[in-house]
Amino acid sequence: MAGEIKSHYEVVVVGAGVSGIYQIKRLADLGVDALVLDAAPDLGGTWYWNRYPGARFDSESYTYGYSFSKELLDEWHWKERFSSQPENLRYLNYVADKFDLRKYMRFNRKVEAAAFEEAGHLWRLRLDDGRELTCRFLILAVGLLSIPTPPRLEGMETFKGRSFHTFYWPHEPVELSGKKVGIIGTGATAIQVIGEIADKVDELTVFQRRPNWSAPLNNSPISDEEMADIRSRYDEIFAACRRTPGGFEHEPDRRGFHEATREERIALWDKLYDEPGFGIWLSNFREIFTDEAANAEFSAYIADRIRKRVKDPLTADKLIPRDHGFGVQRVPLETNYLEAYNRDNVHLVDISETPILRVTETGLRTSVRDYELDIIVYSTGFDAITGAFDAIDITGAGGVKLADEWREGPSTFLGMMAHGFPNLLMPTGPQSGSASTNFPRGIENGVGWCMGLLGHMRDRGYTRAEPTVEAQARWTAHVTKMYAIMLMRKAKSWFTGYNSNIPGHEHGKTRYLVYNGGTPKYVAAITEVADKGYEGIVFDAGARVAARSAAAAE
Ligand code: NAP
Repeated sequence: MAGEIKSHYEVVVVGAGVSGIYQIKRLADLGVDALVLDAAPDLGGTWYWNRYPGARFDSESYTYGYSFSKELLDEWHWKERFSSQPENLRYLNYVADKFDLRKYMRFNRKVEAAAFEEAGHLWRLRLDDGRELTCRFLILAVGLLSIPTPPRLEGMETFKGRSFHTFYWPHEPVELSGKKVGIIGTGATAIQVIGEIADKVDELTVFQRRPNWSAPLNNSPISDEEMADIRSRYDEIFAACRRTPGGFEHEPDRRGFHEATREERIALWDKLYDEPGFGIWLSNFREIFTDEAANAEFSAYIADRIRKRVKDPLTADKLIPRDHGFGVQRVPLETNYLEAYNRDNVHLVDISETPILRVTETGLRTSVRDYELDIIVYSTGFDAITGAFDAIDITGAGGVKLADEWREGPSTFLGMMAHGFPNLLMPTGPQSGSASTNFPRGIENGVGWCMGLLGHMRDRGYTRAEPTVEAQARWTAHVTKMYAIMLMRKAKSWFTGYNSNIPGHEHGKTRYLVYNGGTPKYVAAITEVADKGYEGIVFDAGARVAARSAAAAE
């Protein structure tokens, strides 16, 4: 019956976003008795929630779409090189309908708690309506950026206008015309919003604590002819994504930074700045990720670009980051962002100099003055990567809590399993290959590996799988080592677990959240584990044996 939830499934997937949709497709293909639960009213995950103006891919659309179905690739026409949120959500709905996946999904169902029961090798889930169900395997496809973190400002509840975090931008159109809008934050999200709404509002005041590097998106429509060409090259495109560290089409420039002449470096950067997407970041010299001097020279080049595009020198100066170099965190890609500051109705407030003291009934108060606002937009980021796991009360074997285990930062096996939490799979978990890459490419790798593991267990009658402490320690040490060579380790960003709105994450200790070795290395590592019979994982067939003995005794 539609909407029914049974008391037991072989697999429960939490999350009906990009990963959950692909995960259930693969489970359905195998005929596994599986269910998808999502707290949202509908599918789409990130693309269901983030409806703020300007929300769109930073990956080329045709490298973001699923690669698993030739028919789907042939049918779908991406309209823009970097497709926007409404179109992305339409795409995910199209996929779910085409493969008849909705019948496995239940919405408005939040998983509050999950506890492993050793006796039956089962997970017992509790939903927010009090309902309980069990499953042998729990697959958490909960997203990397799905727990928004508004600031902790005094008086937020007293504001009489409208206010929301960008993640919760209202579904019905928000009237912007004639409105005084304030936005807090200048991360990738705010940079998209600001470029999009600057010419639609009466006044836009940007409250910036630290500036971010950004680069032009250089978006364009995709014509029928171009789409036909893309279709004919899909094999080649996905092969490139498998080959490159970031899982994009953009291949690094393999000339040495220091071997190229200054003129050659400038010529490359001039070319890349005008090209679409992450080329300026990922087709650059590889040294910009690891070598302070190379990074500083390139950052100075981008700073010059900012000065050329922003007319007021003081404003331009404020938009140039000083505490980190270009590309040490995921680079925001923008359209009309810098030009927005040339408009008379856009104002930049440096809250590192004049901090926000509180929200008032009518706007924001900084240390020097009050700002009257109709709308306050909190574009203040997420409890990244581990936040959505912490949001579920997960109790593993022997009563250990996942949130406690990960308090100082996650420790995982391949980013997909955790010692003490048998039969828990995280195809895009912390320390997996997804976060720092083109996300769906990472998803397909992670889901594929999890499916291989499930097939291995099914063939052998195993009912319990858990990585060893040693295997997990080895993986976490490898992930940690990869940070050591990257300048990224120095950045205060969500890649290192920084978030001023979460107690304990304000700064200081790095949380090793993402795998920095790149797609080919990651795929090689997980494939080797599988090829060696899932080395590092201990299997047990106890539950099936116990069930057989019980049946024999009856
Ligand atoms: P973010 O990068 O974490 O940026 C948050 C911003 O809010 C920062 O400027 C931060 O300033 C500021 N902030 C946070 N708390 C504040 C407070 N209490 N007071 C004042 N300022 C505060 O978050 P995001 O912009 O949402 O982006 C997160 C990630 O989402 C991106 O890196 C990207 O991977 C992804 N994303 C992707 C796309 C896409 O194109 N597909 C679009 C948007 C986002 P500080 O730097 O000083 O902390």
